[in-house]
Amino acid sequence: MYEIAIIGAGINGVSCAYELSKAGKKVALFDKGGVASGGSGAAGAFISPKFSKAGELKEILHTAFKYSMAYYEKEFPEHFIKSKLLHIAKDEKEDEVLRFYKEHTDLELLDVEKSEREIVCINAGIINAKALCSEMAKASELIKEEVSTLEYKNGVWHINENYTAKKIIIATGAYKQILAEPYIQLRGIWGHRIEIQTSTENPHSIHQFVSISPSKDGKLAIGATHNVHYHPETSSEPYDIQEGRDELLEKASATIKLESVKVIKDYMGLRSGSFDYMPLVGSLVLSQETLQNKSIHFQTKKPNFNEYSYYPNLTMINGSGGYGFVLAPYLAKILSEYILSDTEIPKGLQPARFFARWAKKLP
Ligand SMILES: Cc1cc2nc3c(=O)[nH]c(=O)nc-3n(C[C@H](O)[C@H](O)[C@H](O)COP(=O)(O)OP(=O)(O)OC[C@H]3O[C@@H](n4cnc5c(N)ncnc54)[C@H](O)[C@@H]3O)c2cc1C
Repeated sequence: MYEIAIIGAGINGVSCAYELSKAGKKVALFDKGGVASGGSGAAGAFISPKFSKAGELKEILHTAFKYSMAYYEKEFPEHFIKSKLLHIAKDEKEDEVLRFYKEHTDLELLDVEKSEREIVCINAGIINAKALCSEMAKASELIKEEVSTLEYKNGVWHINENYTAKKIIIATGAYKQILAEPYIQLRGIWGHRIEIQTSTENPHSIHQFVSISPSKDGKLAIGATHNVHYHPETSSEPYDIQEGRDELLEKASATIKLESVKVIKDYMGLRSGSFDYMPLVGSLVLSQETLQNKSIHFQTKKPNFNEYSYYPNLTMINGSGGYGFVLAPYLAKILSEYILSDTEIPKGLQPARFFARWAKKLP
C-alpha cells in the first residue's frame, strides 16, 4: 500500500510528489500518458508574474513568482534558465495597466529602450518543462496507467481495484474528472508551442500577443494557449496543426521580425482554468452528503467550510491556468503542509468555495 497516490504527473502532481517524497513519504504517481504528457509537456514554461493592476490572482502570482524563482534556482538549476523578460503592452488599455504596474511593483525594473508601446522588463526565468517534471518525479514510483475508479473502503483508497493508498491527490488538469462533483468545473484551453529555426537573434523572453523565448543555437520557441474550441477528449475534428503554426508565426511577427523560419517541432496540450481564475488546492466537498445536513445554511454570504462533509484523505490541486510552472512549487508546499501537518489552506484556494457558490444557487 502507498502512503500517498497522486493521479496526474503534470507539474502540479510531480511538485507534490517531490515535496512529499522529501518528507519521507512513499508516493505513487499515476499518469495515463507518462510524466508531463498533458499541458505541462507543451508549456513554454516561462516563470513570470501577472502584469495587472490588482486582485487576488495578481497577489498570489506575485508571491508564487518570487517563491518559484528562488526554488527552481536552488533545487533544479540545471533545468532553469534565468532570462530577462520583456512584457510589451498589446494596446493602449494595456499601456495604462503596465504604467500602473511599474509605479507600484516591488520587483526590480530593468532599463529598456523607449518604444511606441509600454514595456515592463524584469529578471525572470524559463524552465525546461519535460526534463524538470521527469527529475521531480524520480523519487516516486511511476505507474503509467489511466485511473478510472477510486473507491474508499475500510479506511483505504482503492485505485482501479488493483492498488491501495492511504491518501489521494488528484492532479489531472483539464482532463475528464475522476470524481464527478457538479460544483467542480474546469475550463480546458488548448495551447500550441512551436520550436523554430531562424536566423533572427532574440536575446530575451518576450510576451505580447504570444510568448517568444530567447534564441539559442539558431532556434527559438513561440507559444500560446488560446484555443477554447478544441478539446482532445471531446472534439470530433482533429486539431489543425498548420493553422495553429500560421497563427503563432503571424502573432509573433507583430512583435519581432523573424527571418528564414522553419518549424522544427510542435508541442500541444490542454491547460486548465477555474471560473474565478484562482487555482484549486485542498479537500473536496462531498456535495450530496453535505446538502443533506439540515443544520447548514447554504444561502449565506459567509459560508463556514468546516460544516461541510469531505472525501476522506483526498485532495486536489488544479486550475493553474497559464501559470502552472509559476504556481506549482508554492501550491505544492501549501498542499503538502496541509496533508502532513493540517496547516490551513487559504479559503480563496479551497475547492469548497465553488461548492458554497453552487449550493447557494440551488432552488
Ligand atoms: C502551449 C502552452 C504554453 C504554456 N506556457 C506556460 C508558461 O509559459 N508558464 C507557465 O507557468 N505555464 C504555462 N502553461 C500552463 C501550464 O502548462 C499549466 O498550467 C500546467 O501544465 C498545468 O499542470 P497540471 O499538472 O495541472 O496539468 P497537466 O500537465 O495537464 O497534467 C495532468 C496530467 O494528468 C494526467 N491524467 C488526467 N486524467 C488522468 C487519469 N484519469 N488517470 C491517469 N492520468 C490522468 C494527464 O495525462 C496529464 O499528464 C502553458 C500551457 C500550454 C498548453
